[in-house]
Formats: sequence, structure tokens, C-alpha cells
Amino acid sequence: MKSLEYIDYFTAANPGYMTLNGTNQYLLGREEITVIDVALPGEENIGGILAQAEEMGGKRIEKILLTHIHRDHCGGALALKKRSGARVGLCALRAGYLGGEDFTYAGGDSISYDGGELAVVHTPGHESGHCCFYEPRQRILFTGDHILGQGTTVIPPPDGNMAAYIHSLEKLLKLKIRLLLPGHGPVIHDPYGKIQEYIDHRLLREREVLECLGEGRNMIPAIAAKIYAGLPSPLVSAGQLSVEAHLLKLIREGRVVREGERYLLAAKG
Ligand SMILES: [Zn+2]
Repeated sequence: MKSLEYIDYFTAANPGYMTLNGTNQYLLGREEITVIDVALPGEENIGGILAQAEEMGGKRIEKILLTHIHRDHCGGALALKKRSGARVGLCALRAGYLGGEDFTYAGGDSISYDGGELAVVHTPGHESGHCCFYEPRQRILFTGDHILGQGTTVIPPPDGNMAAYIHSLEKLLKLKIRLLLPGHGPVIHDPYGKIQEYIDHRLLREREVLECLGEGRNMIPAIAAKIYAGLPSPLVSAGQLSVEAHLLKLIREGRVVREGERYLLAAKG
């Protein structure tokens, strides 16, 4: 990547509806390389990361950081650790999840790499322990699944939380960002435009959910069929999960009540 210093990537061979072109695994550093996210444990992927590190002039992999604990981001972490001797870090809220992590981090922490510092930005929503990593010198944010290069991310309850997600997007507006480097899809050159688009999109979906309820369309599959019309079938359940996430947010806010499988607008008090 031309405009970036000491930063490169290797995309895992796991393309799909949710993973787009595959998981972007980022490499940072000069001689001591830090890797953000390792998707797959197989030789093709681990060997690919090691070859990419070597191409950058790296002498060894020093650290592995994970944006979150979904398999397409952490599934190869222990395999890369085994091959390279790197230390694996994980969000403190997920301590013990991998059963082999060496250190943990929390929002506000600073983690050094051979080329600068990364600030940990806790961004719950997609996953409650999700963290983005911010490189202040180059003004770059590694976004994991919080923001994707294309399309939108799924918010799967009960761990996924729509209110937290929107708040985690708003939090990013305070950072000075030049580029977003997502866990899937291409680099984003208009960070604030994209963040605002993501916030607006969720608020639009929320209004659409409320409209559906107003029309008496009050079960999740029917609401999802209306507002996520035209989704390819492998993504239908993801659409339903996001509708559920919106409904849970509205229930917590006292704007919707649940009766069995039906969701109703709360009577105005
Ligand atoms: Zn992902």
C-alpha cells in the first residue's frame, strides 16, 4: 500500500458473503512485525503471512493483535503463534477465549509496534469485545468488522448490540483519520463520509423498523423481508439478526414492547 509506511496486508483465502474478498490481515513494522487478525490456521495462510512479513523486511513476527473473536479474525492466531513465537493479544473482555493469549488490552491502551504506536479503541456492537486500532502518526484506523470496505456489518444479538454499535461509530468521529483499513473489502479514503453513512444507515433502518410496526408488520421475518428485500438468501438470516438488534434497542428505549414473537409500538404515555 503506497501511502502507508511500514504497513502491508495479506488477504486470507476465505471469500464469502460476510467476508467479501476474504479477511484482510494487516502487517505493521520494520523488522519486528505486528499482525492484526489471523483468519485461517492452514499452511497457505500462515505461510502467506510469513512471506509477506519477509517481503517487508521483517525478521520475525513479534505480536498478533485481534480485532475480535469471530473465527474469520482469530481462527489462525494460535497457528501463527506456534510457527513464529509471536505473542498473542486479545481484548481483556475476552480473556481466556483463545486459551493461548499472552496479553490483553482495553480501550485507551497504547500498544507499541516497530514503527510507532497503536491506540486501542473499544468499539462494541458487532461483538462486545471488538476493538479498532488507531495509528495516530499516519492517522489510520484498522476497523476489523466495525466498518467494512463494502456493504454493512451484521449486528447479531444477544452479544451484538445496536445501541452500542451506533455509539461506537460516533466515537470514531472524534479521531483524526485519513484512511480506514477494514477487515474485509477495500481501503476507505473518505473516513468521515463512511462513518456518517454507517450511522445514517442504521438510523434509517430504525425508522423503517418503526414504520413496519406501525403498519402491523410485527414479526422479525416479515420486517426483514420488507426492509432487507432483495438480499441474497445466504444473508437473509443476517438481515433478521440486524432487525432483532434494532428491536432490542427500541425495547430498551421503551419505544417497543414484545408480546411473544410479536413486536408492538409502545403506547405513548
Ligand atoms: Zn469478519
